[in-house]
Amino acid sequence: MKVYRRCTKCGKSKPITCFNMRRYQLMISYRSCCRTCDAIRKVAYRLALKQRALLAYGGKCACCLASDIEFLTIDHIKGGGQQHRRMIHCKPGDQFYRWLYEHKYPAGYQVLCFNCNSAKGFYGYCPHNKAQDMIEPTSERPVERTNVRTTN
Ligand SMILES: [Zn+2]
Ligand SMILES: [Zn+2]
Ligand SMILES: [Zn+2]
Repeated sequence: MKVYRRCTKCGKSKPITCFNMRRYQLMISYRSCCRTCDAIRKVAYRLALKQRALLAYGGKCACCLASDIEFLTIDHIKGGGQQHRRMIHCKPGDQFYRWLYEHKYPAGYQVLCFNCNSAKGFYGYCPHNKAQDMIEPTSERPVERTNVRTTN
């Protein structure tokens, strides 16, 4: 005989095997919502945590102003993000966003999109910034010489 349990989230009755199990010493308990709902909730929680961190640091890429949350990451402004994360025993991603949250979003971080972040990590600069430098007007612009002809 199969044991069914009603999920508190989606309201469906599902076999007990569709629920995540927890073990407390000799006691076994099942989650009140099914695995499907558990997974959805986990994704939503992670997304919310990320969104909170991103909003705390401006909500868009500090370089190109992209604001699609899926592309955005938190960047350690002075670099050394990896060492820092190792120091606080954090893996990049969820744990790091959690760490930021628990430390009330400390200064020294900025939001960068995936493109700008990897360009910075790989080349040490972002092509967006490079383009800006090139636009900067240079004072030594070659002046067109007009040949002044003297007519006799
Ligand atoms: Zn469910
Ligand atoms: Zn960007
Ligand atoms: Zn950029």
